Amino acid sequence: MEKVTGVGRLRELVRQSRREGRSVGFVPTMGALHEGHVSLVRRARAECGLVVVSIFVNPLQFAAGEDLQRYPRSPEEDARLLADAGADILYLPDAGQMYPPTFSTSVDVGGVSEAGEGAVRPGHFRGVATVVAKLFQQVDPDVAYFGRKDLQQVAVVSRMVRDLDIPVRLVVGAIVRDADGLALSSRNVYLSSEERLRAAALPRALFEAQRRASKGERDSGVIENGCRADLERAGLRVDYVEIVDPATMRHCERIERGNALTAAVRVGKTRLIDNVLLLEE
Ligand code: AMP
Repeated sequence: MEKVTGVGRLRELVRQSRREGRSVGFVPTMGALHEGHVSLVRRARAECGLVVVSIFVNPLQFAAGEDLQRYPRSPEEDARLLADAGADILYLPDAGQMYPPTFSTSVDVGGVSEAGEGAVRPGHFRGVATVVAKLFQQVDPDVAYFGRKDLQQVAVVSRMVRDLDIPVRLVVGAIVRDADGLALSSRNVYLSSEERLRAAALPRALFEAQRRASKGERDSGVIENGCRADLERAGLRVDYVEIVDPATMRHCERIERGNALTAAVRVGKTRLIDNVLLLEE
């Protein structure tokens, strides 16, 4: 695995690989890697000739007062995990080169960005879309891998790719969870041991709601209210609980196959998001 910081060298390696007839798979991350990220890298390894992984803690997607400064970083462990998973290139762009003082372009994806995380974190998806568009230009992948853990991010990136005719295919990986169901997240390290125990109520409530839907409940309001009550009873503060169509992120009144129940909660100072698909599993 080669570590690359400059976009020139990155393009050279990607072009070389293309000339040799190898397809290019790309996994963008913010580092502090765990099995969720690694599952995407393994999938890229299985499906593509060249596997590029980026680690970049993108300042544009953090609002003032969010955790940009203290976002977990583990560069050595990350490099080891990626080499083991079979990545070819670890791309580590420099923040100053990504966003020089003259940088003034942003990508705003309407509609899908507005509800859910977009409503609680204004500007977040503008930052995500801008960095993903830029990374796509730099890496020029054939296939890009994203986790369903960030369901709305997938919707935003898919919309952007279609709207801007970006020639990349998106692959969405399943959510990787800990033994008690909590979705793996770099931010889980913020949780104290007591909070970590309490956090398991989030997947429990989502799975319970999923069961209620599979047993026949089709009224979204009933499922959402039940889920919210479960979360509050477990001592979690609820930002939102909403059943949506994952393609548009629009709220659904009646549940249909493939809808997603999305939730965001706060456990102490840590914010957790998760989702389950309804009537699918
Ligand atoms: P991040 O480093 O948080 O920006 O995540 C990088 C990629 O990994 C995103 O596409 C995430 O959706 C994905 N990801 C993060 N956590 C998980 C998880 N538990 N399971 C599957 N994918 C994940």
